Amino acid sequence: MARTFDKSFTQQEPILEAAIERAAEIMKSGRLHRYNVVPGETSEAAQLEEEYATWQGAQFCLATTSGGQALQIALRAAGVTVGTKVLANAYTLAPVPGAIHAVGAEPVLVEIDANWHTDLDDLRAKAATSGARFFMLSHMRGHIADMAAIVSICDEFDISLIEDCAHTMGARWNGIRSGNFGRVACFSTQTYKHINSGEGGLLTTNDAELASRAVVISGSYMNYAGHGAIPAEDVFQQTRLESPNCSARLDNLRAALIRAQLPLLEDNVRRWNERYFVLQSVLSKVAGLRLPERHQHEGFVGSSIQFQAIGLGAQRIPKFVDACGSRGVDIKWFGADEPHAFTSRFDSWAYLNDIPELPSTKQTLATTCDLRVPLTFSTADCRLVAEIVGEEATRLSNS
Ligand SMILES: *Cc1c(COP(=O)(O)O)cnc(C)c1O
Repeated sequence: MARTFDKSFTQQEPILEAAIERAAEIMKSGRLHRYNVVPGETSEAAQLEEEYATWQGAQFCLATTSGGQALQIALRAAGVTVGTKVLANAYTLAPVPGAIHAVGAEPVLVEIDANWHTDLDDLRAKAATSGARFFMLSHMRGHIADMAAIVSICDEFDISLIEDCAHTMGARWNGIRSGNFGRVACFSTQTYKHINSGEGGLLTTNDAELASRAVVISGSYMNYAGHGAIPAEDVFQQTRLESPNCSARLDNLRAALIRAQLPLLEDNVRRWNERYFVLQSVLSKVAGLRLPERHQHEGFVGSSIQFQAIGLGAQRIPKFVDACGSRGVDIKWFGADEPHAFTSRFDSWAYLNDIPELPSTKQTLATTCDLRVPLTFSTADCRLVAEIVGEEATRLSNS
């Protein structure tokens, strides 16, 4: 009998008791809305903003309803409007093109290379030909491109860099936290990310004007003074009437869940990487599977692992995914023509005006397989998962 794996790839760890207690207290108070405070009280959401700004090492922070909303707010607050061109690496999740589209802007999709990074030559070429002055860089699946090179291209073309750190909360490049390279960064605390509040997002920046706009756009009405980690009143005086209210505030309940998890993040990064390295060590020995080359400066968070099933080729991957699935191992394939569950390829975003040919991205994704690494897996679980993947890859490449 072939061994099977029986844990769920989507099972998160329970919410901490301390967070449940705090959430219960907030519910008993009835003051769930972030501006519903008694005199002298700082809301849970505002406390979160202070703490996250400190943790991230950014001056300003805004809590939002989702990571996707943080992206939209970041774009608007940075000055993106109808018809503005926004460069974006084509390997990402649907909320990224969705956010660009929602503000009426036009994405200019950029190729990725074989290591799932933005292709620097294509970025430079498209920055030159499109004239785009914004780049929404999604650190997709935690693969961090050479940030020195990215920043230098952005400087050369006077491009505002907006970082999508949904998969790099807690990661670093050359010792600097992901999210501290551009004008503004966005994070998600949706259930499958590095902090779990069900839904939620965070935006950080050192740009005072952008921060003030973001706060008002998030739906502060004229209650912006009730935020933590914001610029001074005179900055708001210049921006408050020009910024539309797009209602995307975080409530106190979710803020309590995030606050309780933040102190554990650093240790959770270590726990994810411990699991990642077990998976990597087994998978890297399997003939026909290619694992990413990681730059020495990349301090990633191994909350998922990608590999290319080069030996199988795109034709045999559906069979491989099914075979692993029947043994309890849930593989996502980024090469499928049809979008499936959370996974979609750039050429399925049919609402975009212009979907370019991206042969390099398509080639990389054709054999790209992805496994979630939940913290509810032990390292022994990770070993079994990797061995099952290896056995099926070997069996099918010989068939
Ligand atoms: C999850 C995710 C987002 C958006 O987060 P939500 O909180 O679900 O809106 C953005 N970018 C990437 C790459 C993501 O995986």
